[in-house]
Amino acid sequence: MMEAGRITGEALLVAREHVREGVSTKELDTVIRNYIEKCGAKPSFLGYAGFPASACISVNDEVIHGIPSKKRILCEGDVVKIDVGAFYKGFHGDSARTIAVGNVSEEALRLIKTTRDSFFAGVAAVKTGNRIGDVGSAIQECVEGAGFSVVRRYIGHGVGHELHESPDVPNFGTKGRGVRLCAGMTLAIEPMVNVGSEEVYELPDGWTVKTRDGSLSAHYENTIALTSEGVVITTLVDKEW
Ligand code: MG
Ligand code: MG
Repeated sequence: MMEAGRITGEALLVAREHVREGVSTKELDTVIRNYIEKCGAKPSFLGYAGFPASACISVNDEVIHGIPSKKRILCEGDVVKIDVGAFYKGFHGDSARTIAVGNVSEEALRLIKTTRDSFFAGVAAVKTGNRIGDVGSAIQECVEGAGFSVVRRYIGHGVGHELHESPDVPNFGTKGRGVRLCAGMTLAIEPMVNVGSEEVYELPDGWTVKTRDGSLSAHYENTIALTSEGVVITTLVDKEW
């Protein structure tokens, strides 16, 4: 899990270096795929339920599951979400970041920061004996406290030999409710946060999810392991990011 996580995190770092005005989302996808394969791993998403690329790349009001395309060229002011998975020696890593292309609005910066903060608020509640609802409610509190909304239709998940395993890890919930957490659990915690309403819809391409009201959205995800000594974040390569 640690090795798969490290490769996943490094693929995101490599992608970040290529994010700039004029780059297509397909070019970013190619960079990610090449890096993962160079490490002897496989892109977890390529072919998953028929997904045609190695990374999900979603821009502005696209929330998640954007399909990389030669026609999608990044512009100054865009907010781009890159979601990557790497499968290595039988295990998956799953991680996402939101990146500003050049100068973005103050609101966009606040959204990106809040989404990251909410992940760490959730992680602070990951303790043996706590419950999944403690994690979700911590994320929700952080997001709503900043005046943003949490997407409810898509949620985090267990991760390990399979990309998506039980339990469900919603980014909302009630303290003291849900599955009890214990050492050995490996989870993908991934708040998706909208400036406007939480409502989203899927495009006719069968993948891309957008905000219903066209508002900006951000995503932040890491794979974490709850051990007897506490939480280890397997995909966090750059501690500041
Ligand atoms: Mg992901
Ligand atoms: Mg995930």
